[in-house]
Amino acid sequence: MYAVPKVGSVVSFTTEHLAWYYYEQAKKTKQLEYKNVKVLPPLWEERNIFFVATGDAKNPIACISLRCVKQMIIGGKQATFNKEIPESERVTYRIITGSKGDSYTITLKGGKAIHCTCPGFVFHHGNCKHIRNN
Ligand SMILES: [Zn+2]
Repeated sequence: MYAVPKVGSVVSFTTEHLAWYYYEQAKKTKQLEYKNVKVLPPLWEERNIFFVATGDAKNPIACISLRCVKQMIIGGKQATFNKEIPESERVTYRIITGSKGDSYTITLKGGKAIHCTCPGFVFHHGNCKHIRNN
């Protein structure tokens, strides 16, 4: 997914989303192209969306979901696309207090404990009680 472009920047992008075509009774991928549109201050706070001035008097502001953006150019440069990390690859940390009052950090990957900073982790070759119990 692309990051939210800065307010005031000029962007070009294409969006792709599923739309229901009533007369055909079918869902189809709808593509829209926006060329050199200005990013507006957000009308409301929401993750992964941004607003642009369309230049269309009937519909001057468009709310864009980053999930639909397929290509994006910001200020003439190709924007960087950040691959979404699947849940199984997501790394999180948990701080725990050991029995002697020291605090240790457990590293979890996809919710599964893979590393611990306690002395037992080294001593038991990566099989301390914090790893076993997480
Ligand atoms: Zn441990």
